[in-house]
Amino acid sequence: MALASEKSLRWDLSPLYPSVDSPMLADDMQAIADDARTFAERFRGKVAAMRPAELSDALRQLEAFNARMMKIHGFAMLAFSTDTQNARTKDLLDKTRIWGTDLHNQLQFFDLEIKAVPESDFQRLADAPELHDYRYFLLQERKFAPHSLGESEERLMALKSITGDAAWSQLYEEVTSLIRVKVRVDGELEELSLEEARALSTHPDRAQRENARTAVLSAFAERSHLLTFIFNTLYQDHAQDLAIRRYPSAIAPTLLGDDLDEAVIDALMTAVERAYPLAQRYFTLKARALGLSDFASFDTLAPYAQKERHVSFAEGRELVLAAFDGFSPDFARIAGDFFDQRRIDLPPESGKRGGAFCAGLSPELPTYVLLNWTDRLDDVSTLAHELGHGIHFVLAGQAQTPFNFHPITPLAETASTFGEILLTNHLLERESDADVRLQLMANRLEDAIGTIFRQVMYTRWELNAHALRAQGIVSDDAFSELWLDEHRKLYGDAVRMIDVDRWGWSSIPHILLYRFYCYSYAFGQLLVYALYQNYRDQGPDFVPKLLDVLRAGGSAAPQDILAGVGVDIKDPNFWSQGLKLVEDMLVEFEAALAP
Ligand SMILES: [Zn+2]
Repeated sequence: MALASEKSLRWDLSPLYPSVDSPMLADDMQAIADDARTFAERFRGKVAAMRPAELSDALRQLEAFNARMMKIHGFAMLAFSTDTQNARTKDLLDKTRIWGTDLHNQLQFFDLEIKAVPESDFQRLADAPELHDYRYFLLQERKFAPHSLGESEERLMALKSITGDAAWSQLYEEVTSLIRVKVRVDGELEELSLEEARALSTHPDRAQRENARTAVLSAFAERSHLLTFIFNTLYQDHAQDLAIRRYPSAIAPTLLGDDLDEAVIDALMTAVERAYPLAQRYFTLKARALGLSDFASFDTLAPYAQKERHVSFAEGRELVLAAFDGFSPDFARIAGDFFDQRRIDLPPESGKRGGAFCAGLSPELPTYVLLNWTDRLDDVSTLAHELGHGIHFVLAGQAQTPFNFHPITPLAETASTFGEILLTNHLLERESDADVRLQLMANRLEDAIGTIFRQVMYTRWELNAHALRAQGIVSDDAFSELWLDEHRKLYGDAVRMIDVDRWGWSSIPHILLYRFYCYSYAFGQLLVYALYQNYRDQGPDFVPKLLDVLRAGGSAAPQDILAGVGVDIKDPNFWSQGLKLVEDMLVEFEAALAP
């Protein structure tokens, strides 16, 4: 039967390489290294004097290197992700990393020389018709010129970073990944990883949820001296970088890369913070629905129904494809190819990494999706999310060259989130079971709270914590007080916090390791709400406009790409419109709860 083979669907990496033992891998690595040496010999020291056509030709060669490198890196990373305990996949990954660093050092002169071109010459190059395809790429590179140092200083910074910020980041990851907590699960005392213990936050049994949360955050409290030291060190390291590279604020480097004005982020954060009462209204409703008079932080993700709806992979695939087809046959066709061409890896296997991802390598290379399917309704959402990414990569790949292929961070979650909304609405249209409907509507709201409100709260904490660190060493209590302050704003009187909640900040890797990334989740979700509203207003006319946004990849500034769908992210009202949709969902949920 088809079902049996579907359950064991594994991806086919042979369009990249036949196997991790293939001699083609070593041959290609050698050939690329040789070609890179020839390229460096030919162009080193000559970039400033290049005519537009010469620069265009050199950039095309660099892009070809990029695509060939991505084929090797992509294969090594994908092979490793389904077989992390295999000595051969580990060895290949390690070898390609060392090879990649060598190659990067070999070719880095090009980047530094472009930054060093005198301003008037640079403008002439950027405006040249021969370089039209690379204009945005060059302008983005160039923006970092005022913050770059000399070649020898950059080399020193990179070298010292290995034992500096990179080592401190790794220490945090190692210390926290070794944490095991003891939780009583269904009467048995079990030793769980953080991921397993956190999964209990959706357990129907309240005591179970409370125990799991207490156990997780207590583990961080026990390590508070070390973790506080790491936060202080990495935040100070960032402060030093800001001074050395002459950045005006802690968030400035992030925004420069994301090509957004600080005013846009301010408007986003202010609009979301003003809307915190919506979250409080939702939690008050949830407390009443669950019959809880003292709704607590460990109840925020509690399920409404005791029974869970199970979805087979075959059914999940049909649901996602039908939801996509209702929006655009192109969406459904591109998503369908992932199944037909075996570009999805489905079953949870021992040695396979957890979670899910979509890997878009380079325009002419196939895009792959990794899942860990367990027949849960959540898995169907994850499938819609990752296939959304897949559609984004496929469309961008049809229109863009390697340097313009990857969507810029603020737009990276556009298609994935849009795909999830299409799926949820498709499910709501079809589902007749009142309990499942209620849970679907709750999921939608909890997703909005987690992705918009909570991420803005993290970003606010991060801004405040960096500002505090600039004044001197920050104690664990001071970090905790900032954390509790932000939670009080979000929760109001609707959610009671428990003692260990004060250690939450030390348990969130994003606010330490991926500086100021969290705002982009809120940005992406609100943007997609606005896009979805435009779709509801405009109907089929909207579809080609969205496809164009996705085709644009990373070829222009976010605001320019979005202008094509009539979205103005510089307008402060824009964010309020997305938040209005959250309110609409809340009103719908209120009505569904009322008997
Ligand atoms: Zn995503």
